[in-house]
Amino acid sequence: MCECGSSRTPGIGPFATGRALVEFVLNAHGGSVAVSALPGGLEHNCQGCGKHFVQETFVQSCPVCGGVHAVSPPRATDSAAIQFAGVDFVLPKAA
Ligand SMILES: [Zn+2]
Repeated sequence: MCECGSSRTPGIGPFATGRALVEFVLNAHGGSVAVSALPGGLEHNCQGCGKHFVQETFVQSCPVCGGVHAVSPPRATDSAAIQFAGVDFVLPKAA
């Protein structure tokens, strides 16, 4: 079952915001999406500390503050669509 881009429910799925989006991407396809490389990467500024870095996978932590950012597959080329999980969010341990 793939729900990438199919949900039109506000606040849920690929068009959610903030932590909800991060958690959606983390869980999508059993976690395989989160570690997949973004085509070309997305340059953006950390929404936690302001550090400029390149988001190279759909879910990635800031190299400075560790803040977790994610972008959903339908918006993988839009750096403005990157969502920040919040300063107290910690990535679940990789299985
Ligand atoms: Zn940061």
